[in-house]
Amino acid sequence: MLLSVIVPLYNEEEIVEKTFHTLEAELAHIEHELIFVNDGSKDRTREILERLLTQTPKNKLVNFSRNFGHQAAFSAGLQHASGDAVVIIDGDLQDPPTLIHEMLQKWKEGYQVVYAQRHKRAGESIFKKFSAFCFYRLLHSLTNIEIPSDTGDYRLMDRCVVNQINALPERSRFLRGLVCWVGFKKVGILYDRAERSAGTSKYPLRKMMRLAIDGITSFSTTPLKISFMVGLIATIVALGILVWSFLEKFLSPNTTVPGWASLMTTIVFFSGVQLISIGIVGEYIGRIYDEVKQRPLYIEDKK
Ligand code: UDP
Ligand code: MG
Repeated sequence: MLLSVIVPLYNEEEIVEKTFHTLEAELAHIEHELIFVNDGSKDRTREILERLLTQTPKNKLVNFSRNFGHQAAFSAGLQHASGDAVVIIDGDLQDPPTLIHEMLQKWKEGYQVVYAQRHKRAGESIFKKFSAFCFYRLLHSLTNIEIPSDTGDYRLMDRCVVNQINALPERSRFLRGLVCWVGFKKVGILYDRAERSAGTSKYPLRKMMRLAIDGITSFSTTPLKISFMVGLIATIVALGILVWSFLEKFLSPNTTVPGWASLMTTIVFFSGVQLISIGIVGEYIGRIYDEVKQRPLYIEDKK
């Protein structure tokens, strides 16, 4: 049994060495390979990794030509992994590596995906916690696949899951969503997320927003359908105004300004019609989007 552990790193010079030794110590009794993906770091991360890895030829290093992002780094790691089970873990030791043993235990029990679910988050701002809370709730309400709440990318995947994910041709890869989408037997284990062991977060608000938008748009076409719903409501309101303004015109003709009723009704009605039309176009774009993602129609579990 070979275990691959994928670690993405972006400007983590303060921390890579510690991460390397911690992981090596933790996995000393397990046959493993570490796959470091250097996501275009501008500091000494690459040099340090190259030095560390010359002593351990079983481990791999993938260097990106520039910063392509955390999710791209995981995708690269998955392509290079040759293990029977693959763990993906952040490089800042916020996700405790000891949990890997527990994950392996579950894997041996027959689970094909073991994800770590955050019970507590230490050292993160109230804003980060709050935005994460909202994001997971929004994702739940907009998508119909079950993406577990408060789960980051820290997880173990069986080879069959990794093969399925590698085979997906779509380009915007929200990994934790894709892992849920491919299915298979899953289980979560709770853990307390530690503080970063050194350095600062490499996820500024801009990247967080990008990730959230990728997550929602990759798994939901609901936003495309919003205009249809709004249009429908506007049209119903327009009909209401139509009835009301006519009643007012005939029951108390002296109080209404001439032209008001017809103007109001036309504006609201045609706004509604336009929004509905955009919604219909959105419905088709949603379908085109589903087609270009080229996800398989179904995935069979191994016999
Ligand atoms: N990371 C990366 N590319 C990026 C941003 C982050 O490879 O563009 C790596 C980073 O080095 C770390 C992991 O992704 O190993 C998680 O990032 P971070 O700890 O900054 O995120 P947070 O825990 O604050 O959400
Ligand atoms: Mg972190």
